[in-house]
Amino acid sequence: MSSSVLRMVILGRQGSGKGTQSLRIAEQFGCVHLSTGDVLRAAVDAGTELGQQAAGIMNAGGLVGDDIMIPLVAERLAQDDIMAGGVLLDGFPRTAEQANGLEAMLAELEQQLTVAINLDVPVEEVTQRMMARGREDDTEDAITRRLGLYEEQTAPLLDWFAERGLLATVDGLGEEDEVFARLRGVIDERLA
Ligand code: AMP
Repeated sequence: MSSSVLRMVILGRQGSGKGTQSLRIAEQFGCVHLSTGDVLRAAVDAGTELGQQAAGIMNAGGLVGDDIMIPLVAERLAQDDIMAGGVLLDGFPRTAEQANGLEAMLAELEQQLTVAINLDVPVEEVTQRMMARGREDDTEDAITRRLGLYEEQTAPLLDWFAERGLLATVDGLGEEDEVFARLRGVIDERLA
């Protein structure tokens, strides 16, 4: 029997509903929701060194360096709660370098990913949703820049995961409950 501990990545454009669905998945499957965006925002609020390094980049819609992000996630993945209960990575990996870093971390910890889900919502729809949510770092320029970086740096990771047999695509349009049911179906299947 394969382990029922969930270790997954959720990919999707900013504004795809990833954050909301991730909270529900983590609750349903009892794993830790590790959102690198949340970690960085908390560091900015707390005024830590990491936060000071990240704040300007985040406000401009850029990507915090791989040299910062990879060790940050590596350290967190090795902690007991994630080792025992699993993890849903939300917002990481975002670059090929980070994907390679993730592969190395998991190998080191002798763990395997259950699945990488692409929560698919078209670019026109996510733009409208982000304009509507009005988060502090959601200026029009930052949104445009983030979506551009997603297509350029993160979308190629879909192939990376597909090549490893780990990719599943879920339609992110529709009611929140409906989307969650689709996600749950895919995860249950992969865990079985
Ligand atoms: P998110 O909440 O995932 O949209 O992340 C908010 C912002 O945090 C992003 O626009 C980036 O500036 C930064 N960020 C979050 N995760 C990463 C990551 N894995 N690599 C680089 N920057 C990140």
